[in-house]
Amino acid sequence: MEHAVTPSWASLAYLASGVLFILALRGLSSPSTSRTGNRFGMIGMLIAVVTTLVVHEPTKQQLLSSGVIFVFTDFAAYAQILAAIAIGGAIGWITARKIKMTDMPQLVAAFHSLVGMAAVLVGWAAYLNPEAFGIAASAGFIMPQSRLEMGLGIAIGAITFSGSVIAFLKLAGKMSGAPIMLPGRHVINLATLAAILGLTAYFMTDQSLWVIATVTALAFIIGFLLIIPIGGADMPVVVSMLNSYSGWAAAAMGFTLHNTAMIITGALVGSSGAILSYIMCKAMNRSFISVIAGGFGAEAGPAGEAKEQRPWKRGSAEDAAYMLGEAEKVIIIPGYGMAVSQAQHALREMGDLLKAKGVEVKYAIHPVAGRMPGHMNVLLAEANVPYDEVFELEDINSEFATADVAFIIGANDVVNPAAKTDKASPIYGMPVFDVDKAKQVFFIKRSMGGVGYAGVDNDVFYMPQTTMLLADAKKMVEDINKGLAH
Ligand code: NAP
Repeated sequence: MEHAVTPSWASLAYLASGVLFILALRGLSSPSTSRTGNRFGMIGMLIAVVTTLVVHEPTKQQLLSSGVIFVFTDFAAYAQILAAIAIGGAIGWITARKIKMTDMPQLVAAFHSLVGMAAVLVGWAAYLNPEAFGIAASAGFIMPQSRLEMGLGIAIGAITFSGSVIAFLKLAGKMSGAPIMLPGRHVINLATLAAILGLTAYFMTDQSLWVIATVTALAFIIGFLLIIPIGGADMPVVVSMLNSYSGWAAAAMGFTLHNTAMIITGALVGSSGAILSYIMCKAMNRSFISVIAGGFGAEAGPAGEAKEQRPWKRGSAEDAAYMLGEAEKVIIIPGYGMAVSQAQHALREMGDLLKAKGVEVKYAIHPVAGRMPGHMNVLLAEANVPYDEVFELEDINSEFATADVAFIIGANDVVNPAAKTDKASPIYGMPVFDVDKAKQVFFIKRSMGGVGYAGVDNDVFYMPQTTMLLADAKKMVEDINKGLAH
């Protein structure tokens, strides 16, 4: 199939899907509009896919006995495409229905790996059959500019693939989450990156198989090398960074395929992922370069040693119910443990009971609470917590000084004051909630032994105003609710 100029109706359709994708991103910026945003995205994708299928109609040729070439629609190819869409769609549908909220980050990483692999496969298909993609200057000779786009697309796609596979294995606990440091890794990484860029440039002058094969292999290796040394609390940044890479890989392939919708979508995903990475880095007070250079959390050991020896106070659900009921203002800080125990509904009920008693209730959300961006917002929205009671870190942190109770439920790293004071701590520099300023602190976790994601002890456990509520979060809040209802 020779590459044809995109008909103007198709350009308009692609433009419409691009606008819908922008509206989708806009909608996803707040929990109250996220469902509408998702719908815009789905409609945009439907328009883009249908337009592409119509514009790139698969055809077959037949040489008639009269010598005339008869061109007709290849319905078998359409059937194959539809079967592939149905299989992929069914797998996606079943996975989305089955996946637990706490397993979302690894699912996202797994999906990014598929985008990366798709870019590699499209790039290779275009390399092996340039005529079919309309990028051949003459038989078998690929236009140099297309070779550049193809080389970059394959390289970014391969990095996204192997990087995402490692991120998936780390997040799913199938491989140690700790940073794995190779000696001389910065030199190895820089040399590999330089080789990829150099060979991609050389590919413009020589389209030999060995050049693109080496670029592909090196890119698979660098994706692996880049993510392997990253550990600890930096994983959220890695996931959004890989999200960004998958977008750029798709955009590069959009150029190869002359598909404007893919270029627009890829650029949107690429830039929104990059912005999210930047926001996450800011939330953890980490520079993007130091995240990429890796090794965060490697020295997470010593801070936990003093445990057990310091005194701490244990309380019961009844104590907590009494204190909460007497308070004027309660700030709730949810974290990963709330997601694990699925305590959000019981928590919302607690908020309702407290409000009925005239207590002011607010929820404080840290940008990296939980295991994925927006994790807490999604869970609270699912439990119908009113949006106007939910506050971001910078909007609520000054209010702890006026709060009677800071109610920490399954959060740990995001309230750890070591981030402010202990330069040796792996979370040093991450902005945290000033829970120590509240008159009273309740801290729900299952045992004194358990540590947060960064694996460090927490001084909040041992503060005089802290009462530890050791139990599963959902069970504890349900018991508190019984006390409040009396
Ligand atoms: P965290 O530091 O991981 O602490 C989780 C707390 O929940 C622990 O105290 C744990 O103690 C408790 N817990 C676990 N299961 C529980 C249950 N069933 N009932 C009651 N408590 C339970 O959580 P966080 O404060 O939300 O901090 C998030 C961390 O994850 C940060 O370090 C962040 O950088 C990292 N991270 C974030 C993302 C993201 O995108 N948001 C992604 C990856 C990593 P016990 O075990 O003793 O119960």
